[in-house]
Amino acid sequence: MSQEITWLQNATIVTMNDDRDIIEGDLLLKGGRIAAIGDVDPVAAEGAHTRDLTGHIITPGFVQCHIHLCQTLMRNHADDMVLLDWLERRIWPYEAALTPETLAISARVGLAELIRGGTTAILDMGTVHHTDAIGEVVKESGIRAHIGKCMMDYGDQVPVPMREDTDESIRESLRLHQSWHGAADGRIKYAFAPRFAVSCTERLLREVGEAAADLKCHIHTHSSETEFENEFTRERYGVSNIEFLQQVGMTGDRSVFAHGVHVDDEDCRILASSHTAICHCPSSNLKLASGIANMPRYDKFGVPVALGADGAPCNNNLDAFIEMRLAALLQKPFHGPQSMPAERVLALATIDGARALGLQDEVGSLEVGKSADLVVLNLDDDPGCGPGGDVAARIVYTAQKHNVRHVFASGRQLVDNGELVHIDAPSLMARARTAQQDVVKRMQKYLPQ
Ligand SMILES: [Zn+2]
Repeated sequence: MSQEITWLQNATIVTMNDDRDIIEGDLLLKGGRIAAIGDVDPVAAEGAHTRDLTGHIITPGFVQCHIHLCQTLMRNHADDMVLLDWLERRIWPYEAALTPETLAISARVGLAELIRGGTTAILDMGTVHHTDAIGEVVKESGIRAHIGKCMMDYGDQVPVPMREDTDESIRESLRLHQSWHGAADGRIKYAFAPRFAVSCTERLLREVGEAAADLKCHIHTHSSETEFENEFTRERYGVSNIEFLQQVGMTGDRSVFAHGVHVDDEDCRILASSHTAICHCPSSNLKLASGIANMPRYDKFGVPVALGADGAPCNNNLDAFIEMRLAALLQKPFHGPQSMPAERVLALATIDGARALGLQDEVGSLEVGKSADLVVLNLDDDPGCGPGGDVAARIVYTAQKHNVRHVFASGRQLVDNGELVHIDAPSLMARARTAQQDVVKRMQKYLPQ
């Protein structure tokens, strides 16, 4: 936590508070928290670093509720495939080949991209092994994260090193929970991460549901990304994917289901009544040809929704701006131009994401007392972002990650004038290229015959 005092002056502050106030003025950051908004008392700001942000916009840091940091080294190496093929021929063999060292580099590359683009909180799915390596990298990065070990104890197509014994998978998850839940001054939390119903036994899912309820921590899984997941649970259990996840105790207000493309009204009722959040991943759903989630229907039923980029090999970006723009545009041809307005999308990427992670009292909006997790954008000097206009529209429809000038998380500056403060990107990418070649060599033995 930063003890420094920072006084950001003369900005347009998009608070994303309940009234959606947009304030012209200053922001005072003290001890890692927001100490004042609007007018700042110079006495309270004594000794502060000041920064004149005339012509700049400040928004809450973006929250992405479905990320795979472990997959970043596979970016641009798994393209133009459908989900199951993509998993079996590329992603699972790749994840099986990861070592703690290559996993750490993958996570560093993912975090560098996320932070540079203004994302300050994530829900990460992890991989089956070496989850401590992700925790260490998250800890040093300054980002806020729910991390979890991916759990898989079923499936012939799963490479041997990835297929776990049920008890061992749960034991390791509980050990990781003990090590990481509340780590880094509470910045890191643990979330159980059974991959999806197709690669988990019913017993594993039931035990995860019970453990997460006991420990009051989150559950993170994939659901209804493809119709195959519904066919699988209908055949085995006689119900839809969402109904099955409810029956085994996986739904609840601390559960986030990624995708939710192939659902019906009854599924929506289950999600709404259990307050289970759906993480909408529009780029991933398009690239893997999975389909388009129906956002207005989720709104109609009152299902909580958040936004996420998913993994680098299925997107191929981890960029909140791309997801926001796409989330807004995708719904319009089907449901009309007002079905997903810019301000609503900005809420998905900030306060609604924070709510899905149970972090709404800590981040997601700029309010006095909350953690100083924020993004400073320069749109005024960019011919592609103006001149002027509706602030939410400028951010959602025109801004890109190069417009991010500064990023603060827990009051600590992670991006300064468009540059990562703690990460040397060229040397990181040189190591990433070597690591990528190493993993590709090792993964050959896990490819399906
Ligand atoms: Zn995913």
